[in-house]
Amino acid sequence: MLRFAPSPTGDMHTGNLRAAIFNYILAKQKGEAFLLRIEDTDTSRNIEGKDKDIMFLLTLFGISWDNLVYQSNNFPRHRQLADYLISQGKAFYCYCTKEFLEAKREEAKKNKIAFRYQDSWALLQKDSHSNPVIRLKGSSEPMSFYDEIKGEVKFDCNEVDSFVIIKEDGIPTYNFACAVDDMLYDVDFIVRGEDHVSNTPKQILIHKGLNYAKKIQFAHLPIILNEEGKKMSKRDNASSVQWLLNEGFLPQAIANYLILIGNHTPCEVFTMQEAISWFDIKRIAKAPARFDIDKLRFLNREHFKRLNELDLAALLGYKDTSIGGLAKLYLQEASTLNELKTKIDRIFFNKTKLLEQEKEGEILELKEEFNTLHNTLLKLLESLDWQNTSYEEFKTKAMQESNLKGKRFFKPLRYLLTGFEHGPELNDLFLYLRNFLKDILRK
Ligand code: GLU
Repeated sequence: MLRFAPSPTGDMHTGNLRAAIFNYILAKQKGEAFLLRIEDTDTSRNIEGKDKDIMFLLTLFGISWDNLVYQSNNFPRHRQLADYLISQGKAFYCYCTKEFLEAKREEAKKNKIAFRYQDSWALLQKDSHSNPVIRLKGSSEPMSFYDEIKGEVKFDCNEVDSFVIIKEDGIPTYNFACAVDDMLYDVDFIVRGEDHVSNTPKQILIHKGLNYAKKIQFAHLPIILNEEGKKMSKRDNASSVQWLLNEGFLPQAIANYLILIGNHTPCEVFTMQEAISWFDIKRIAKAPARFDIDKLRFLNREHFKRLNELDLAALLGYKDTSIGGLAKLYLQEASTLNELKTKIDRIFFNKTKLLEQEKEGEILELKEEFNTLHNTLLKLLESLDWQNTSYEEFKTKAMQESNLKGKRFFKPLRYLLTGFEHGPELNDLFLYLRNFLKDILRK
């Protein structure tokens, strides 16, 4: 079983989505089930509705799950297993107050030694504390595990001291709930962010304590850096999956990008379904990947090209296939859905009104020519069967009738047809525009 285990404590970021994609791909490759586990153990940080947001986004990215679990539903099981660990002498109650531990931490800092919890402290404050936590006994030996990306990862015993598995309020910690649920649901391959490397020995220790011997494979993904080479944080817009979608990046392009970065892939442009046939987690680079929005823009254009014209039109809010074709021509200067929509919507604006609002541009000096040509075209519209007219024929007729030529003809013409002074070849655009001329040229 593979799993994706998000905490419903904030918006999904690109690192989370990357882990979800990789776990999903591995589940498909191995023919195993995929579990979505909502890790709602941190009750004070849970945000209502975030679980639904996560499910919506996964669905949008084509990631479906076979099984859905809320970790809080398993709290009684976690508690039972913690009691079992106590009965086996592998876990114990600890009555230390926060203040006591804080003082000990300060002391260690002052003496310049790493803080390590001492089991002998457990009962010192028994009388002043009525809600003890439960700790699992730490490791007295060095520990290690094999990571599919990082190779052997080692910890000395100081790094795994006795740690809390059940908090004062009776709720399991992340590490305990995670390790127990991985065991209960038979998870055998875990892909997650590198920030969890230090949790892994603790989770292995929990499994050992529970006499769970299954060998679990781990792969910890290097972090994603921002364009300045620093760790991506909430302040980086591109770290938010929702922001990327709002900007008009396609889910298939975002998924493509997250599989591509820091990886050796046989090709550059692909879908998640295609990646299932060749993805190899071992090929993910150890070094952190750097987020490159230009690369994402390139992939977005490539995925627009792959869309059929009717679907593309629908994404832009139009029903006609031709709009999809038209939009593809604009891919030479637009990369996102929002940018494309700006181009296409403008074609259908009332150009006289649009021109009145213009503040700059050569077209302002060609108002007269604009009006002349506008009237000419409207007249021609009545006499010609536009849908079967070639651009050459249309252009020749319009030039003749308007008596305009050169820039004085082409600038107003382009503006009348597209609402912009520059853009793709009119020759190419006309093939699509001619279907809508009545609408485009209305006064
Ligand atoms: N809830 C953890 C997170 O969102 C998941 C860690 C894991 O996959 O074990 O980071």
